[in-house]
Amino acid sequence: MEKNELRKEIRSRKRQFSAEELRVQSLSLISRLLVHPRIEQANTVMLYHSLPDEVDTHTAIDRLAACGKRVLLPVVLDEERMEVREYRDQACLQTGSMNILEPMGRPFQTLEEIDVIVVPGMSFDADGHRLGRGKGYYDRFLQQVPKAYKIGICFDFQKVDYVPSDQYDIPVNEVI
Ligand code: ADP
Ligand code: MG
Repeated sequence: MEKNELRKEIRSRKRQFSAEELRVQSLSLISRLLVHPRIEQANTVMLYHSLPDEVDTHTAIDRLAACGKRVLLPVVLDEERMEVREYRDQACLQTGSMNILEPMGRPFQTLEEIDVIVVPGMSFDADGHRLGRGKGYYDRFLQQVPKAYKIGICFDFQKVDYVPSDQYDIPVNEVI
């Protein structure tokens, strides 16, 4: 299947679940994420601030920040690039260009200090190949952070046997 076909397929699968069903599925995925040894050992974790159709990361963000970890979130800069900024509390967030809540403030620049990155995806396969929304934001960002441990996260119905990938696609180390 081509990337675009797979995106279409995943979007149609998603429509079969209510917001409440997605919420329940999110809770179980997030509880596994929060006890992951890589997360427990990490000082600096990059997450994403979820949209309604994604695995809900909102409580995980607050829980990790509350237990003293440095939590980073992406900020979309233009058509191709994103940076990360530190999350402190809900009040530090503003709506960004893609309707995603993003931290205000300075960019976090010592990217080599990021221990774990929780990577969203439209789909993942068991080898960690990732399908995004089609703009390549994470592929461009992740190439700057080769040493971070990357955990892909998506609903079970988004996991497939095979995700097509090309030269720029950066796989994750594991999928939750
Ligand atoms: P996504 O990862 O969001 O699913 P794609 O993998 O289809 O999206 O990538 C979208 C576009 O971005 C492709 O044309 C791809 O070649 C380009 N791209 C991705 N990463 C890079 C990169 N590091 N440098 C240049 N172009 C890139
Ligand atoms: Mg890609």
